[in-house]
Amino acid sequence: MAGHRVAPPARAGAPAGAYRTASERDAADTRPSAAPAPERSAGPGRPSGPVVLIDWDGVDPAYLEEDLDSCAPVLAGLMWSGAHAVMECTYKSVSNPNRASAATGARPEVHRNTAYVLDPATGKARGQTRAMRAETLAEALRRQGRTVLSAGWYIVEDRGTAYGDPEGLYSQGRTWEENVDAVVAALRGEPVDSGGTPVRLPRVPDLIAAYSADLDTIGHREGPGSPRIRERLTGLDAGLGRIVSEVRRAGLLGRTAFVLVSDHGMTGYTRSLEPAVFGAVAAAGLSVERLYSGQAPDPATEVVLTASPRAANAYLRGAAASPEGRARLLRALHGLDELEAVLTREDLDALGAAPEEGDLALDARPPFAFVDPDAVGGAERGGHASLREARAPLTLSGAGVRARARLREPGIIDVAPTLCRLLGADPPAGAQGRVLDEALVPRRV
Ligand SMILES: [Zn+2]
Repeated sequence: MAGHRVAPPARAGAPAGAYRTASERDAADTRPSAAPAPERSAGPGRPSGPVVLIDWDGVDPAYLEEDLDSCAPVLAGLMWSGAHAVMECTYKSVSNPNRASAATGARPEVHRNTAYVLDPATGKARGQTRAMRAETLAEALRRQGRTVLSAGWYIVEDRGTAYGDPEGLYSQGRTWEENVDAVVAALRGEPVDSGGTPVRLPRVPDLIAAYSADLDTIGHREGPGSPRIRERLTGLDAGLGRIVSEVRRAGLLGRTAFVLVSDHGMTGYTRSLEPAVFGAVAAAGLSVERLYSGQAPDPATEVVLTASPRAANAYLRGAAASPEGRARLLRALHGLDELEAVLTREDLDALGAAPEEGDLALDARPPFAFVDPDAVGGAERGGHASLREARAPLTLSGAGVRARARLREPGIIDVAPTLCRLLGADPPAGAQGRVLDEALVPRRV
């Protein structure tokens, strides 16, 4: 039932990053690759960096498990020449809270970016926001005199990067390819488009972040089994290849680290569990209401649900908030096969979830999700939010990264501290994650 760690339910026992046999991997390593030479770090007196952060939204770890050499050869090259693992994300496994965790190195209990919750400030359900109460990676680097380019990595817009600011530039392409264009321009020393205005950067930025939402979008619409996911992964990889080629052309390959992350996985669903959950709550003698963003609950409702759609939050009031009512509700929920986990407030605290996540969180068991039963039409769609989707790929490669290092239970909160270490900088002020030292070449001092 409720776990205190974000355990990998689907692939328990499989080592992180065990995508193929050692011999297959060795064979892959001997062929020419777009990956940079490993084990090369900035020497004494040489400035470290740049670090290129690639963030592709909604990449389920399973997307990278099969046939990656032909589907995404550039990423495969980075993976085999560096370190790769499946990292633990934060709860709930929704984009902005997890991207905030990547950017701040902190869990939602600290950065307080939450989504699909009942907002205590307004009394209404709401969707995602960009609010963060902790320092971002971009702010931390700027504070230490470093420069940043964000090509669509929206979580640091106005949080260390901004339109028109050459030291911390924000650029928003309409597509991944346009975000790659901005990165290529920065590497060439050409002006970078920033909201329609060309901006010339003082030098190659220390941190270059580039984002794509495409795989998440396809996963939602067509489910994680859609053939279009592999197609688009190949397209994203081509853009990554342009970035690696441009780094080489700029003579920076031996000094550049590449970090690829995502924010959560993706699970297919075809059925609604709302009738079963509503029925169980009603049978326990409690009133229940499911809110969509912008809606406020009826004052008399005892169990208020928000959802997004693979997990729901429950806010208990009136009789449901009494010890006896709460016990009755938990018994009813534990009896439902459609639920994979019922997380109590204590479980949520142990995960570092924000207080806004409410009194209980309900994780749906596939193929179920918290969706309008009239809206599911048989075709698979995809969603995330539960512990099952709180896993995402992490790849570290290039300068400063040890070849084929084995990462020890990395988390998304480790991304910002590790990026800062690669740049010889201190982590963001509120970071709770650690530097993934096991993957880094020891720094010579
Ligand atoms: Zn999504």
